[in-house]
Amino acid sequence: MSESAESAAALLDRIQVPEGSGREIPDAATREIIGRAPVHSVAELDDAIGRAKAAQPAWEALGHARRSELLLAAADAIDANAEGLAHLLSREQGKPLNGPNARFELGACSAWLRTNAAIELEPQVLVDDETLHAELVYKAAGVVGAIGPWNWPLMITIWQIGPSLRMGNTVVAKPSEYTPLSVLAMLAVMNEVLPADVLIGVSGDREVGARLASHPDIDKIMFTGSTATGRKIIESSAGNLARLTLELGGNDAGIVLPGTDVDAIAQDLFWGAFINTGQTCAAMKRLYVHDSIYDDVVAALAEIAASVPIGNGLDENNVLGPLQNRAQFDVVSRLVDEARAGGARVVTGGEPASELGELFYRPTIVADISDGAALVDEEQFGPALPVIRYTDVDDAVARANAAEVGLGASVWASDEDAAREVATRMQSGTVWINSHGGLHPMVPFGGVKSSGYGLEFGVEGLKSVAVTQVVSGPGRKGTALEGTA
Ligand code: NAD
Repeated sequence: MSESAESAAALLDRIQVPEGSGREIPDAATREIIGRAPVHSVAELDDAIGRAKAAQPAWEALGHARRSELLLAAADAIDANAEGLAHLLSREQGKPLNGPNARFELGACSAWLRTNAAIELEPQVLVDDETLHAELVYKAAGVVGAIGPWNWPLMITIWQIGPSLRMGNTVVAKPSEYTPLSVLAMLAVMNEVLPADVLIGVSGDREVGARLASHPDIDKIMFTGSTATGRKIIESSAGNLARLTLELGGNDAGIVLPGTDVDAIAQDLFWGAFINTGQTCAAMKRLYVHDSIYDDVVAALAEIAASVPIGNGLDENNVLGPLQNRAQFDVVSRLVDEARAGGARVVTGGEPASELGELFYRPTIVADISDGAALVDEEQFGPALPVIRYTDVDDAVARANAAEVGLGASVWASDEDAAREVATRMQSGTVWINSHGGLHPMVPFGGVKSSGYGLEFGVEGLKSVAVTQVVSGPGRKGTALEGTA
């Protein structure tokens, strides 16, 4: 057994599953059973929320400086276990160790935690004059419920819990039922250094997620997942009035402007769409290319897609892996099959890579396709990119903006000023120029339209897990403003 496999096995041993119970979790590439994850009951969830609520006042009272130290210690603990966690993540999620995948994800976890520890959220002085001194201060919301997806399970969990803990909230985190092992292992590593009950992992099925979202003692929900589930969480919040941050689905468009140097952008275009084998919320999911360079872009993308190493993630050569689960594999297969049946041209790929395993699908480029085809209009969340020809930039912008969702978008051009002008017209939470999907822990991220609401990362991210309080007192002359609200 390799050293990282041994560390992964030791991490798995830390996840407690009562004898004879739990859910078997397969290796995404081989379908071998890796281990069993606990399936906690609603009663166990209620108990966890009760413990988190009891632990919250003391955690908040520790103060920002001490909590930041503990977050840094948690980041150190993740770094010390990174190789074992990456191995487990690679098997459970399918993403290769190498490339912008499992090791990269672990690096992001520690980087985001370190940033959460370093940033400050100062009170905002609203009025400071002779009659009034008023400040807006940010305090912990209370108990945060963190509900995560299966595509970047560790990194997204850290996005939810890092700022929450920093602001003095305690957290109950529920990983996706598809990827509980790596998340529970990471939480166990963090809990080596955090006080008891400040961060509790509860794994279970959708019923547990639904209860977490609607529980009366939950003050804030950080949710990342599909728009459909996001809507259910909004409904639950009518009951407990929990504040919500909803990072939901996307169907990000990229637009390549005329006159763009195709060779200069081809690699970045490819990875903007295929990172994590296309299973990324803010990946490019439809690409609009000007007629004058359409054939060149399609050929360049197809060449990369046909040659990029795909296979078992533990093989260091591979940079693309399988789809994580059967349901997602079926979505991708159906969308490509329908596109082909509708007359689109499958330039490369377009079929399962069954020789590699059950859930592998060849990286696919589909040309001569347009809006109205399901592969363009729906979120494929997999390794199949539709490339759409356009002749008029305004029309391309209108088609990109016609989607109900608005997470990310990108504009590609050799002329950056032209790209910037088009970028400002895109209806999305983020628009990138000559790249797609890059994130930074200090730069807020969030969607518009049906991609959700609320911002994560940086100072805005701390605000989103806080509640505000106005502190209003006498001004410099020592007299409060006359009159009452
Ligand atoms: P999903 O909505 O099926 O599940 C997400 C989580 O919600 C899981 O933990 C699940 O158990 C839980 N859940 C299910 N029903 C629930 C309910 N009624 N109440 C509360 N929780 C419930 O999403 P998924 O398939 O895991 O993730 C894929 C989707 O997530 C894609 O649409 C993708 O675009 C989106 N996503 C968005 C972002 C972002 O930052 N905007 C990031 C990653 C993924």
